[in-house]
Amino acid sequence: METLESFVAGEWIRGSGTPHALHNPTTEEKIAETSTAGIEFRRAVDHARDEGGKNLRAMTFAERGDVLRAMSRVIHASRDALIELAILNGGNTRSDAKFDIDGASGTLAYYAELGKELGSQKFLLDGDGIQLGRSPRFFGQHVLLPRRGVAVHINAFNFPGWGFAEKAACALLAGMPVVTKPATSTALLAFRMMKLFDEAKCLPRGALSFVAGSAGDLLSHLGGQDVIAFTGSSDTGSIIRLMPNLQKASVRINVEADSLNAAVLGPDVPPGSDTYRMFLNDVARDVTQKAGQKCTAIRRVFVSKDQLAQVQGDLLDRLREAKVGDPAADGVTVGPLATAQQKRDVTAGIELLAKEAAVVLGSGPFERVGVTGDKGYFVPPTLLVSEAPETLARVHDHEVFGPVATLMATSGRAADVAALVARGGGGLVSSVYSDDREFAADMIFEIGPWHGRLVMGSEKLSDQMPGPGTVLPHTIHGGPGRAGGGEELGGARGLAFYSQRTAVQGSRPILEAILGKKENKA
Ligand code: NAP
Repeated sequence: METLESFVAGEWIRGSGTPHALHNPTTEEKIAETSTAGIEFRRAVDHARDEGGKNLRAMTFAERGDVLRAMSRVIHASRDALIELAILNGGNTRSDAKFDIDGASGTLAYYAELGKELGSQKFLLDGDGIQLGRSPRFFGQHVLLPRRGVAVHINAFNFPGWGFAEKAACALLAGMPVVTKPATSTALLAFRMMKLFDEAKCLPRGALSFVAGSAGDLLSHLGGQDVIAFTGSSDTGSIIRLMPNLQKASVRINVEADSLNAAVLGPDVPPGSDTYRMFLNDVARDVTQKAGQKCTAIRRVFVSKDQLAQVQGDLLDRLREAKVGDPAADGVTVGPLATAQQKRDVTAGIELLAKEAAVVLGSGPFERVGVTGDKGYFVPPTLLVSEAPETLARVHDHEVFGPVATLMATSGRAADVAALVARGGGGLVSSVYSDDREFAADMIFEIGPWHGRLVMGSEKLSDQMPGPGTVLPHTIHGGPGRAGGGEELGGARGLAFYSQRTAVQGSRPILEAILGKKENKA
């Protein structure tokens, strides 16, 4: 059995004390253990700030991009071995594992290219310079300078690969060193990635540290130049936000929390059309992919009353094709949830939703391919239906983080649908499927402010879009309200969190000579 180690202050360290067990969610067997007790986190952050920060700030964007490219290649070169670990520790099917691992290497490669484009500069100009006085000489220029602290990244259990990479890519490219921490329960994949990076020596000293387990007192050592990017539950996000030392020092915190993402079928969309198929594919994929354990997965599905019967029948047909079981077995499309606690939470969540909506799929015994006995943290695809969504409470505010969605019938009027979507309290992403431009426009302006991202499905795009569940590095990820209020990625926008925006005022010729002109603008 493997014992994970942390990589801090330039060395691999095994924690002391009682270790935390990692399990195979298909068999429930213990497969590894880890502890971070006894690790000196003050030394870890000091080393990252001093060594890593200095080394990264000395590099140009192009050079930092080269580091990201090397990391991307390291992951890609070990793709098959990493997929096996995602199956073993995450309960991912092969396809789910690729989603996470290729998402990681792809995001790093995207930011490597951005680094190349930003070229030989070491910081960014933010917008045009501004004449501040009567003469053009008194001038102001906003600049984005790498912050002098450390970026602590805390990730959720469901994306140990991509979750690590999407945060690390932005911080490292901006010139900030990273201390990254996966969720303990699924840390095996991120641990192996970190080992591979270290073996390949692809990072400057101090640029990336790795905490294999509990954060311990890590956050108590942070100060005003440090940042925290957190992904996980709203409750943990709140605990972190309320830490007195972080509040006192105004430590910048980005929170990516949960979300009741919606899919809206426009009343104009006929069954069998391309737009309808796209809608159906996206909903069915999001219920089953990664056993529904994606923060971006569709949880609430809105259709008009006269579409309900057809959509319900078609969705049931699609979801009944799913095969639940050992993610390594041929033909299995839905693996187990990641942990025993997840299974308890999802089961309780379904019971809660079932008090106000009818369960039309998922109750009762179900087949588990390749599994003996009743081992494993399996939950079958589950669909609930309601014809009175405005009367529901829990469906609009309780995230069931598994293969579960609720189909609801509405009047089909944009204002009514928008009001229901907004009851999610702020989301990461919602999707609208319509070829009626007026309906699409109403939805963009009405539900846009409640989301970090909208996916507008329409006929001519049906073969080109990966669906709302896929986060693309070019556009932002995060959302207002219950989604955490955070914002990550979005191309060069993602670098701003790791930079200090400073307005420099002075003589135009002097500032332009020191800062450069427009060529390194964000
Ligand atoms: P979680 O229990 O809140 O844990 C998230 C991370 O926080 C883990 O790494 C955990 O470490 C760490 N943590 C827990 N307590 C901490 C503390 N006091 N100080 C510092 N770190 C602490 O959430 P989860 O169960 O892993 O994730 C599921 C939730 O994440 C779902 O609600 C999902 O919607 C959300 N999520 C959101 C996004 C997004 O991008 N918005 C993406 C993925 C998931 P340990 O594992 O060591 O306890």
